[in-house]
Amino acid sequence: MATVTPRAALQWDYAPAPESRDAASLRESYDLFINGAFVAPTDGTRVQTINPATEEPLASVAFAGAGDVAAAVAAARDAAPRWAALPALERGKYLFRIARLIQERSRELAIVETLDGGKPIRESRDVDIPLAAAHFFSYAGWADKLGYAVGGRSFAPRGVVGQVVPWNFPLLMAAWKLAPALACGNTAVLKPAETTPLSALLLAEIVQEADLPPGVVNVVTGDGGAGAALVRSDVDKVAFTGSTAVGKEIQRALAGTGRGLTLELGGKSANIVFEDAALDQAVEGIIEGIFFNQGHVCCAGSRLLLQESVAEEVVRRLWARMERLRVGDPLDKNTDVGAINSAAQLDRISSLVAEGEREGATRRSISCALPETGYWFPPTLFLDVAPANRIAVEEIFGPVVSVTTFRTPAEAVERANNSAYGLAAGVWTDNGSKAFQLAGALRAGVVWQNTYNKFDPTAAFGGYKESGFGREGGPSGLLPYLEVGSA
Ligand code: NAP
Ligand code: MG
Repeated sequence: MATVTPRAALQWDYAPAPESRDAASLRESYDLFINGAFVAPTDGTRVQTINPATEEPLASVAFAGAGDVAAAVAAARDAAPRWAALPALERGKYLFRIARLIQERSRELAIVETLDGGKPIRESRDVDIPLAAAHFFSYAGWADKLGYAVGGRSFAPRGVVGQVVPWNFPLLMAAWKLAPALACGNTAVLKPAETTPLSALLLAEIVQEADLPPGVVNVVTGDGGAGAALVRSDVDKVAFTGSTAVGKEIQRALAGTGRGLTLELGGKSANIVFEDAALDQAVEGIIEGIFFNQGHVCCAGSRLLLQESVAEEVVRRLWARMERLRVGDPLDKNTDVGAINSAAQLDRISSLVAEGEREGATRRSISCALPETGYWFPPTLFLDVAPANRIAVEEIFGPVVSVTTFRTPAEAVERANNSAYGLAAGVWTDNGSKAFQLAGALRAGVVWQNTYNKFDPTAAFGGYKESGFGREGGPSGLLPYLEVGSA
């Protein structure tokens, strides 16, 4: 009789799939980009930017002082009349050129974005860089059609704009800001975040390569001090993306000056799952909503609201899915969750999570081997969360989701709107009329239906309440960069 051999256990481990670092060559040191040239900071200060996944230094980057910021603003001021006077079609051609160059250098940009910020290469390759190019393409097309965006009224560029962006989507946020500003005929000074300056500096190289007239785009790297100097300088409009605390400070500084201001600030967005939703899809959307970019996403679905009848089942499936997330080397194409952007952000996440446990919520973090160097936090969910707990109220800006339940659509709306923020929301249901009713009742700038974290250059993005004001993207994204007159 034939003997039965036990079937060998199948191994389904992923082989490493690292993107090659060699496809991006970084310089040892980067200068400021002012008036079309790279120039050293006047006081010579430089600071290393590091790779948060390994803590290794990547390049030393110039730190702009107040004098450097003033020089960049003066260059933008000088360039403004000629740029504004250029035929709109010609301005559009420059934007098309920048978009094409971003595409040409996309692999290099994706690697640099991942090295400098810690996000998975799959995301920088498939989301950040293509979307940055798409914003330039989209606004290139708008440059000679501004009349349609303002409904036939008269319009003029604002002049010089000061733009401050955060570290979570460095190149993409720069594109959101620069593309509409330039299309409208403004000149700009951009201040990238201290921990992620490199992709903005590569963009400055692209601006040079595209032969943009000197002074139309200037990049001043540095810390919050450079940002503060820029928003208080002689600019005509400030566009800021970052924390609500700094946004409020900027609003106070600009009050009464007559300068334009748009603020894209924090969020604590509700992702609402109804019992009639396709639950497996909803689970994918919850994962996408909170673990995309390590949860360093202003519109992250960090408050999960589950209808009571399916709550247990959704949590069961969500946990099973979470345990399959691959956390680790951001340059590996199989990685789902990369490194936390900085030691400071890791501290903030850790302390809020500890506070959640102290307040009595039940913490579940997936067990996964985390690298020994670098900054890491395991995907985490909180159950038994009371609506007043700090983890349910404050933005954690990390891979942490809190779960609460509701019974009726009205209760879901009430809970979702019970927030100082109002940036985004997600609604999961198979019932179309319920989805539209909710979209109308939710006080959130963006409401996604049966999806989450989907971005498109033709759609407006922005917040209510403490999430800020003004819109970016689409034709509405042009308005903050124009003085609009009467018919
Ligand atoms: P942050 O401290 O406000 O920093 C944002 C930017 O402002 C950085 O470039 C920063 O420079 C600069 N900055 C710091 N202090 C400043 C000051 N006093 N005046 C002018 N500029 C100053 O925010 P973060 O912690 O880096 O970023 C995370 C926050 O941004 C989260 O709250 C998130 O929700 C929000 N965010 C919102 C959106 C949106 O579209 N609504 C998008 C992304 C992020 P340094 O980095 O050099 O300090
Ligand atoms: Mg860095």
